[in-house]
Amino acid sequence: MGFSERYEATLADLSKCCQACGRSVGHVRVMAVSKTVGPDAVEEAVKAGAHLFGENRPEGIMQKSQLFPQEEWHFIGNIQSRRIADIVPHAALIHSLYQESHACKINDVAARLGKVQDVLLEVNVSGEESKSGLAPDQVKDMVLLVGSLPNVRLRGLMTMAPQGDRSAVVSTFEGLARLHAELKAGLDVESAACFNELSMGMSEDWPEAVAAGATIIRIGRALFSDEF
Ligand SMILES: *Cc1c(COP(=O)(O)O)cnc(C)c1O
Repeated sequence: MGFSERYEATLADLSKCCQACGRSVGHVRVMAVSKTVGPDAVEEAVKAGAHLFGENRPEGIMQKSQLFPQEEWHFIGNIQSRRIADIVPHAALIHSLYQESHACKINDVAARLGKVQDVLLEVNVSGEESKSGLAPDQVKDMVLLVGSLPNVRLRGLMTMAPQGDRSAVVSTFEGLARLHAELKAGLDVESAACFNELSMGMSEDWPEAVAAGATIIRIGRALFSDEF
């Protein structure tokens, strides 16, 4: 099987999943996480109809977004302060913001580029030590900070579920959706209108994420690897 077959199969599964949970398939975007593959595989993916890609390293998003500028590139990896100037020019959306100092630096770089940078806040819903992100009770203050930065626009929240245990996966995704709804209710009309994205779900757990309200699912191995 090549990318094309895996992509078609995933879209068919997504369509069934949306039907089963009463959601419109048009409300869920599939991101092809291309962090482990080279430009040839991205080209194959584009030919198969994929137009949204995710990278977790500055080099990856710089290189591939320049090779495929007509596609949409998102940054999903750990942010390092000194690499923000390499990420902002290339990312339509940054999924993994959780530090105040990074928000301020993203604002400065975006201002210099004459850009408003769309971001999601990464939340560590499950509270696992190994996971990065804001604790749920820290998110509100971060929303206020980002709201004060003219060149950063908050579009929603992102999380990663713990591996394995289904009930922990479901409660993580439902927890993010609940937090999103609570925060949205506290925003002014204009900010609330932009605060629509829930980035959650990967190869192993995207159906649970879609059932909980995901708007972007981030899929790597199930699309790019034959071994998944
Ligand atoms: C690698 C990665 C994914 C994709 O994971 P798969 O299990 O390969 O689908 C999704 N989100 C983030 C943040 C990642 O780093």
